[in-house]
Amino acid sequence: MSNDVQDESHTIGRWLIERAAHTPHRVAIDDRGVTITYGDLAERARELAGSLAGAGFGPGSRIATLAGNSIDHVVLFFGCALIGAAFVPLSWRQSTRELVDTLGRSDPQLLVVDDEFAVSAGEAIRELPEPPLMTALGTAGIERVVPPARDPRPARPVRDDDPLLIVFTSGSEAAPKGVILTHANCFWNNLALGRALPLGEGDVVLTVLPQFHVAAWNCQPLLAWWGGATVVLERSFDTERVLQLIRERRVTAMMGVPTQYAMLADSRGWDASDLSSIRLALVGGATLPGAVRDAWQARGVELVQGYGLTEAGPNVLHCPTGSAGGHEGAVGRPYPHVSVQVVDPDTLLPLRGDATGELWVRGPSVFAGYLGDPDATARAMHGDWLRTGDLVHRDRDGVFTVVDRLKDIFISGGENVAPAEVEHALCLHPLVTGAAVVGVADPVWGERGVAFVTLRTGALVSQDEIFAHARRTLAAFKVPIAVEIVDRLPRSSIDKLARSRLRERASAIAASA
Ligand code: AMP
Repeated sequence: MSNDVQDESHTIGRWLIERAAHTPHRVAIDDRGVTITYGDLAERARELAGSLAGAGFGPGSRIATLAGNSIDHVVLFFGCALIGAAFVPLSWRQSTRELVDTLGRSDPQLLVVDDEFAVSAGEAIRELPEPPLMTALGTAGIERVVPPARDPRPARPVRDDDPLLIVFTSGSEAAPKGVILTHANCFWNNLALGRALPLGEGDVVLTVLPQFHVAAWNCQPLLAWWGGATVVLERSFDTERVLQLIRERRVTAMMGVPTQYAMLADSRGWDASDLSSIRLALVGGATLPGAVRDAWQARGVELVQGYGLTEAGPNVLHCPTGSAGGHEGAVGRPYPHVSVQVVDPDTLLPLRGDATGELWVRGPSVFAGYLGDPDATARAMHGDWLRTGDLVHRDRDGVFTVVDRLKDIFISGGENVAPAEVEHALCLHPLVTGAAVVGVADPVWGERGVAFVTLRTGALVSQDEIFAHARRTLAAFKVPIAVEIVDRLPRSSIDKLARSRLRERASAIAASA
């Protein structure tokens, strides 16, 4: 067809076209009862790619989205993939201030939003010195703002090393960074996943992770589409709705963070739920509590644990099905596409055999760098090894357990939170002079933040006012569960904030909150 995009590499657009040619009539997505076949998905993605290419988008362009899970969102993802433009799904959980920041950093040429987030997107782009074009999700909306196609072919064929997906994630620094994943990164990640966790044409895969997280693209749905399965898309996580979908659609595979599995096992409908269709339930992103694993096992579902991080593409380790029963926190062995080593964090020398140290990862799925931040990229790498910032133990059978984090983040409901980012936001309050945030254990969310703040001399500020400020400036999952106003914050001999000295106090505050 005239809109054909020349693509001779192992790119994600190409495999969609090949998959669609193989199973054109099979349902690729079921979005709240509206379905699209593989053939139509590829056709719509090609048409959109033609329009975008005609408007000058292609390799080197960035198209951001602020949108919930939907067929249109997926069409746009593949449209971008076909022309070699980077797809930048932004988190709708962000406050306006955070959105302005990530939009500024990603500097997209086009921002595509769905109705629900149009107002917040509009507020954010008004604050940008050079706002991107903004339009509604859906081919019609996009075609309204991009001029009609003159020549619908992209400037050059899409290459394996073109950025496909740019996902923002919190490292330990004050602002989230955009992780660039190329077509090759995603291709290899899914090839490895597809071999280890085969999903085939009979599978029905529930995707409820929000489509701004790496795993909501490059893990489970791509893996499902790779195999020709049907993806059931759900927009928000509601326990009763998820249990209903599992029963009604006979869901065979799902993926979530430990908090979601914990909430399901604790929900009203759990005892009466029908989980008999599930054959693969993947969990990752944070440590899985043994009690949650046991609750699912008692219902005949073995939770298959995995470990990864956005920068690694993301999948690194997993426990193959049938290997459950390992100790709490065990996250299995490396996928075949990556090499890993356990390194002494002080000497940076590799440790052999049974050892505890920082996990380093190397392989074709390791990211191409942080967008616009070569210094941060250099800090994350050691040669071609990615330093994960996670402290792991490898036992003598080669099974890994995540034991601690060297990087300064905590994980709440599967979302990374950098204490430095929350502290920075708290200090934006005109009467706050300093802040320290520590993560404490939480039975449902995994971890939550507790904040300590110091005030300007003589200032009278209530805890409620600090909370209100935090809610205005931060995404809800980053807002601390408790705030304590203190006279001074503990500092080390070199004047660095000594968060570790606040941990005990923070746990006591959280327990009584
Ligand atoms: P993200 O980049 O948002 O996917 O977060 C990656 C981080 O989540 C990793 O560096 C780990 O600290 C943590 N993580 C991921 N999977 C697990 C797991 N199975 N167990 C414990 N921590 C995990």
